[in-house]
Amino acid sequence: MDEIFDTIIIGAGAAGLTAGIYTSRAKLSTLILNEGAIGGQMVLTEEIANYPGLPVTKGYVLADNMKSQAKSFGCKIKSNIKITKYNLDDEIKSVELEDGRKFKSRTIILTPGGTPRSLNIEGEDEFKGKGISYCATCDGDFFTGKEVVVVGGGNSALEEAVALTNFATKVTIVHLFDHFQAFKHAVEEAEKNPKIEFIMESELRGFYGNTQLEKVSVEHLPSGKRSELKTDGTFIFIGYQPNTTDLKNEVELNDRNEIVVDSDMKTNIKGVFAAGDCINKKYRQVTTAVADGTIAALSVAEYLRN
Ligand SMILES: Cc1cc2nc3c(=O)[nH]c(=O)nc-3n(C[C@H](O)[C@H](O)[C@H](O)COP(=O)(O)OP(=O)(O)OC[C@H]3O[C@@H](n4cnc5c(N)ncnc54)[C@H](O)[C@@H]3O)c2cc1C
Repeated sequence: MDEIFDTIIIGAGAAGLTAGIYTSRAKLSTLILNEGAIGGQMVLTEEIANYPGLPVTKGYVLADNMKSQAKSFGCKIKSNIKITKYNLDDEIKSVELEDGRKFKSRTIILTPGGTPRSLNIEGEDEFKGKGISYCATCDGDFFTGKEVVVVGGGNSALEEAVALTNFATKVTIVHLFDHFQAFKHAVEEAEKNPKIEFIMESELRGFYGNTQLEKVSVEHLPSGKRSELKTDGTFIFIGYQPNTTDLKNEVELNDRNEIVVDSDMKTNIKGVFAAGDCINKKYRQVTTAVADGTIAALSVAEYLRN
């Protein structure tokens, strides 16, 4: 308990585990504290096909390899914990857990990741990874030659719908309103694409199928009329929530609740760094989380040297 770690990493996803690999390999005493399953979003991913140098791999396998690699360099990992108190401002920082344990450190790396927003409707949990996806870059290729639905009306939804036409034969965008909340050029590009159709003022009500998604129920909001739409897949792009609620009064967040960092992954608090899906950035992938985690770890090493 009296040990002062060189760094404590909050979150054991791709960003946190990578930071742990780098700091412990640099002989910095490192503790990773993780609330959920080790591996974060990677373990929610059936197959990862775009991690350079690896053949298509199960998400949990990649996560397990990262964990073993970090441990092999001496990184300590504690999971299923709940942090109740942060003290980030002092030179020696500390975090307190629900069970009363307290851990001290010279630096902190925040890597709590995030969660794509769900529709929270019938069948969504059942068909996640079995036709329902939240990432076109990750899963678009699985729908080559098939028909998909895209839910959403912002920039991500429209840009990803256009990207999906590289794979799918037909993309149907289902959107709540009679207009889009996206930039004009994104709307125009989607509208002129012959593979894209639009169902406006409508909302999905359920996902159905046997082992794989086969159809969705769509409600036309002005009339209340429901219809069924056959589909091989549905991509949901209705926003993203960084896991930063507990950090609101601890570090600077932007209006999307992302942790504000500079290019060295430094936050506004001396000795506190952040990396991965929780930071202010556009692209959220395993590769980008790994890159951010690397930069944060190297910045920690430089901070401690100075
Ligand atoms: C369904 C799905 C499929 C995807 N497919 C791909 C793909 O094929 N290829 C690809 O490159 N990317 C894919 N992604 C995106 C990729 O998984 C993420 O961008 C990346 O894993 C993010 O890593 P991270 O470490 O920043 O965050 P996360 O993976 O979210 O990890 C954060 C960790 O921190 C923990 N945590 C949160 N809050 C706290 C706290 N207060 N205290 C302690 N621990 C905390 C969480 O439990 C979690 O374990 C996919 C994402 C999803 C959801």
